[in-house]
Amino acid sequence: MKKFRGVFIKNEREIALLRKANALTAAILDELVAQVRPGVPTMMFEDMAQAMCRDFGVRPSFQGYAGFPYALCCSVNETVVHGFPSADCILKEGDIVSFDMGVEYEGFHGDSARTALVGEVSDAAKHLSRVTEECLHLGIAAARPGNDVYAISAAVQRHAEAEGLKIIRRFVGHGVGAKRHEKPEIPNFVPQGLGEGVPLKPGMVLAIEPMLAIGTEEVVILPDGWTANMKDHSLAAHWEHSVLITHDGAEILSLAGKR
Ligand code: MG
Ligand code: MG
Repeated sequence: MKKFRGVFIKNEREIALLRKANALTAAILDELVAQVRPGVPTMMFEDMAQAMCRDFGVRPSFQGYAGFPYALCCSVNETVVHGFPSADCILKEGDIVSFDMGVEYEGFHGDSARTALVGEVSDAAKHLSRVTEECLHLGIAAARPGNDVYAISAAVQRHAEAEGLKIIRRFVGHGVGAKRHEKPEIPNFVPQGLGEGVPLKPGMVLAIEPMLAIGTEEVVILPDGWTANMKDHSLAAHWEHSVLITHDGAEILSLAGKR
């Protein structure tokens, strides 16, 4: 496989498979988001995701990855990422929940995340999710040849900070392809002292994923080894798309309409 500065440049066949993997991932996520309402246990979404993977004939790519036990990361309120779905966690009015998942289609991975609002939520929660999604789209708009990876980081950081939100620095976006995580890392802030980022080239496929919080930027990992919670228990949101760098911009692959 062709590489530029350590980053895979996908060929037409690989792009077609990534298109499919991401479109199926998006179709599942859309269905999960449509079922968000007060009173349902988060395990219901895991069961739905598993059933849809079976229907599509694909494997949930998170399950078993570094030992992660579920198809779906289901992160409620103060959980930023990597939350476990649970029969005991019942969504209630005012919660926010993010779903993060990917499927593997003929050896290639999808990766996408959405934050959903449960019933009526606070203005602060709405603002957090909206700005995090806006940061994602600003990052995508900066993802084009002529820019480097940190142009994405800068676009996310500028908007998040202008809106008074905190950037979770512990987790970053990444390349995606035959492996769930490939080079380059895509931080949601411009790292100091690392010089220039990798220049973006057509054929790169990147998972851009801002994670923002209201209070602190400090995260703690629970004893389950995965669940990443805000140290101050404030709300956090997560939005993610996998995008293909084209000759003049970026094409979002994780949209269900493309399936
Ligand atoms: Mg993800
Ligand atoms: Mg990702």
